[in-house]
Amino acid sequence: MRAYRILDWQQGPQFAEAPVPRPGPGQVLVRVAANGLCHSDAMMSQVPEEFGRQLGWEVPFTLGHEVGGWVWDLADDVEGLGSGDAVALVSAHSCGTCHECLRGRDSICTSSTFGRGFGRDGGLAPFVLAASVREIVPLRSVDPVIAGPLTDAGATSYHAVKRVLPRLEPGSTAVVIGAGGGLGSFAVQFLRALSPARVVAVDTADDRLAFATSLGAHESVIGVDAATAPTILELTDGDGAAAVLDFVGIDATIEAGLAATRMAGAFAVVGAAGGTFRRPWYGGLPREADVFTFQGSNIADVHDVVALAERGLVQSVVARFDFDDVAQAYEQLEHGELHGRAVVIPDEV
Ligand SMILES: [Zn+2]
Ligand SMILES: [Zn+2]
Repeated sequence: MRAYRILDWQQGPQFAEAPVPRPGPGQVLVRVAANGLCHSDAMMSQVPEEFGRQLGWEVPFTLGHEVGGWVWDLADDVEGLGSGDAVALVSAHSCGTCHECLRGRDSICTSSTFGRGFGRDGGLAPFVLAASVREIVPLRSVDPVIAGPLTDAGATSYHAVKRVLPRLEPGSTAVVIGAGGGLGSFAVQFLRALSPARVVAVDTADDRLAFATSLGAHESVIGVDAATAPTILELTDGDGAAAVLDFVGIDATIEAGLAATRMAGAFAVVGAAGGTFRRPWYGGLPREADVFTFQGSNIADVHDVVALAERGLVQSVVARFDFDDVAQAYEQLEHGELHGRAVVIPDEV
């Protein structure tokens, strides 16, 4: 089959032949309906061999960790699934038996440093293997073509939103920085579906803010600079926001986000753009606030997000690309030209 692969360390992805995998004990072969593209895919071709091996990666591997599809073939010992069932695959790998997994914190399982699309074969191919049934989330009404982004962009965003929900009392404000992006646009929807908070969208372009507004944001703030935090303070009668979720993660967004967080509020940096925390302890940090970092998502988060989508409370907005156009889709993602997530449809079989 034709797959979009990283053939060797620190090499860019390309089309190459890959064998169709056969499901071993406990495994399920999935026919890929579509695979969502993620910002992190661009980093996969930069990992040096030594670091990659520390992470447990093997080359070559097929890119893609946001998979929706149908069960194609399954091992004899797999129960509860049948050929043709619509499914989404949990994006992150986890062992299921370690200290963290047993406590439902599989996002920090030590085996989560490698998985489908990062050091193992992923979903940018007609077929992909699910290593165990716990990685499979059944779909009822959700179209597998749009399901992949729910498992990663959606679930990672949900994991952060769920953590700030106790802060979002009636009358409170939640700020989403990067609200027009893949994760931010999900966060706007989760906040609307699950909290009474007023939702303020922050992003750098009018069309991205219009997209966030179409998904339910109440207010828009354009750009991130020295004026951002004062604007949010003004919108909140000088109090600041009960929760600020930063899906960008550069110096400017961290600076503005912390300055806009109210006392006993929460600030989360989820975006992986490499920013630094520089706020002074005295006068620079909101008292009694929670500050927390990127965390991926747990299997339970994926089930929750799919359940919200099944109820129609959350949309997975996608731009569809043919397999031949995968490089162009990545380019549009890098340039912030997409509204919602790019999903790539692999070759017919
Ligand atoms: Zn991702
Ligand atoms: Zn584990």
